[in-house]
Amino acid sequence: MATPENEALDETPRGRIAAVTAKIENAAKRAGRKAQDVSLIAVSKTHDASSIVPVIEAGQHVFGENRIQESQAKWPELKQRYPHVELHLIGPLQSNKAKEAVALFDAIHTIDREKIARAISAEMEKQKRSPKLLIQVNTGEEEQKAGVLPADADAFVKLCREDLGLQIEGLMCIPPVDEEPALHFALLAKIAARNGLHELSMGMSADFETAIEQGATSIRVGTALFGPRG
Ligand SMILES: *Cc1c(COP(=O)(O)O)cnc(C)c1O
Repeated sequence: MATPENEALDETPRGRIAAVTAKIENAAKRAGRKAQDVSLIAVSKTHDASSIVPVIEAGQHVFGENRIQESQAKWPELKQRYPHVELHLIGPLQSNKAKEAVALFDAIHTIDREKIARAISAEMEKQKRSPKLLIQVNTGEEEQKAGVLPADADAFVKLCREDLGLQIEGLMCIPPVDEEPALHFALLAKIAARNGLHELSMGMSADFETAIEQGATSIRVGTALFGPRG
């Protein structure tokens, strides 16, 4: 069977989506999972509307951004034009941006401390909007990285649920660049399972197949869909 690597690379949005989709299907099959249970988030950070539109037109409808300000500059207009598109915040969140985050995003993957959780909760109440919420876990315990530490994760899930009444759907992680990602994905899956959480946001262009084998329900893919960031 011809593998995508053997074929001439189709560098159109449609071709890139097809190549990523084929890899998702293969990884899901290897893991005994259904490809439909893995949601592909196209990470459009740094790319402007003129690059995003062809990807939407090619059939992609879930997008991820890591900066609020950048998202506010390009997405309100795109969402108006393509109301079916779902927008996910996958980057670090400051509590003074909770209002903007709740107003613009359909999912927030990066809840990681009480102050943020409280600010998001208050804005959800005020705006009567309920984006899907995930907690970011700093599985590599990296100083520069956002996320709750693995040892604090259970207590933080409990605080969000019981003290703040937030419905938490799952967990997200970004493994350290120089470590075997599978170990981090497995740790995230374990923390999620013991807390009764079903969504696992893990895996990027370089490691999404591994993430799917470890149970990812959302993968966040930028480069493999848009090409290199400038
Ligand atoms: C940029 C980014 C991605 C996508 O990375 P690629 O390697 O381009 O696929 C995924 N997740 C987060 C949190 C990101 O910031």
